[in-house]
Amino acid sequence: LSDLGLIENGALGIDVASGTIEYAGRYASLDRALLSGKCITIDASGRVVMPGFIDSHTHLVFGGSRAGEFYRRARGESYQEISSSGGGIIKTVAATRQASEEELFSAASSRLAQLICNGTCTVETKSGYGLDVPSELKILSVNRRLQATAPVTVFSTYLGAHLVPVERRDDRDGYVDFVIDQLREVAQAGLADFYDIFVDPLAFTLPEAQRIVAAGSETHLGLKLHADEFGDDGTTAWGVAAGALSCDHLGGIGEAGIAALAASNTVATLLPATMFFSSHGVYAPARRMIEGGCAIALATDLNPGSSLIYSIPLTMTLAVLEMAMSAEECIVAATINAAHALGIADHTGSLEPGKRADVIVIDAPHYEELPYQVGRDLIRDVIIGGRVIKSNGQMQLPC
Ligand SMILES: [Zn+2]
Repeated sequence: LSDLGLIENGALGIDVASGTIEYAGRYASLDRALLSGKCITIDASGRVVMPGFIDSHTHLVFGGSRAGEFYRRARGESYQEISSSGGGIIKTVAATRQASEEELFSAASSRLAQLICNGTCTVETKSGYGLDVPSELKILSVNRRLQATAPVTVFSTYLGAHLVPVERRDDRDGYVDFVIDQLREVAQAGLADFYDIFVDPLAFTLPEAQRIVAAGSETHLGLKLHADEFGDDGTTAWGVAAGALSCDHLGGIGEAGIAALAASNTVATLLPATMFFSSHGVYAPARRMIEGGCAIALATDLNPGSSLIYSIPLTMTLAVLEMAMSAEECIVAATINAAHALGIADHTGSLEPGKRADVIVIDAPHYEELPYQVGRDLIRDVIIGGRVIKSNGQMQLPC
C-alpha cells in the first residue's frame, strides 16, 4: 500500500489509436522509434504523472437538492429528526421519481464532468433513489447513457436494497421479493455490472441481505456492500464469505471483520468524505485495518445527503487528517486498489504497458502536495483512454 513504484525522470508512451499505454519507464530508456510519425508530446517536466483516480462508490444520479438539511444538521438536528420531517433519503427518492430521465441525465452528466475535472477517470454509480420499478429502471438507464456518452468509464450498480420505501414499510418481505425479481431482470437486461445492499438497522437486516445474495449470486453481477457503517453488525465477515468485491464504509468494523478482510480478496472501501460532510458516525479504523493486512480503497460516496463531495484529492486530505493515512497509501487506495474494488485491475489503475491510458498530471513537483494543498486545483491534465480531456488546467469538454 505504500509502494508507488515511483520512476524519476520518467516518460509515458500512449498509443492513441488503442487508448492504451505502450511505454512506462525512464525517459532515457524510451525507444525513440515510438516518437516517430504523428506524435503529440505533453511536457510534464517538474510535475507528477500518475494514474487517473477511480471513484468506486458514488450515487451520481439523483433528483432535487438537500441543501436545507445540510444547514439543519450543522445546527445540531439529528438524522432521525430530519428524516421524520420529510428529509433524508426519502426526500431524494420523491424528487428522483418526479424527475424525467432527461433531467436526471443532464444533472448527472454535469456532476460527472466535475469529477473528471478533479482527476477521476473511472466512476461507479448506483441506483437506489427510485425504489420502484419505473424509477429504478430510469436511473439504470441514465447510468447506461452515461456509459455510452461520457469520456470517463462508468460502472452501473443496482441498489434497489438502499432503503425500504415508505409505502412498503408494512411489507418488508414483499419489498425484498421485489428487489430479488428486479435484480434478476436488471442482470438479464444488461443494465448493471454490480449489485449492492445497504445492510444497516435503518435499511436491511443481514437475513434480508442473505436472501438477496442467494438470488444475486446466480447472476453475473459482482456484489458490493454498504457494511458496518455505524456499528459492527457482522456484515463484513459475512460479505467476505459471500465473495463481495468490496465492503464499503466500515466505520463500525470489529476485529472479526478486519481479520476476514485481511484473509480475502475483498477490498475495504473507506469513505471519509461522508463522515466529514454529514458530521455523523465515526471514521473507519484505517490504521488498524492497514496493519491488519486489509486492502484499502478510497472513494467519495458522492450523494446529495451525506457527501456532496466531487473530489478524490479532498477525500485524500480527509484520509490523511482523520484516518492517519500517508500520501502513498491514499494514492494506491484511489487508483489500483479502487480498480480491484471494481474487478478491473488487470486493465486499469496503474501506469503499465497494455493498460488503459487513464493518466493525470499534477501541477506540483511532488505527489505529497496533492492531499496537502486543499481547495487548489492541482490536476493540470486529464487523459482518459488516450484522449486529452483536460489540458493545462482547461477542460476540453464542458466542465
Ligand atoms: Zn453509498
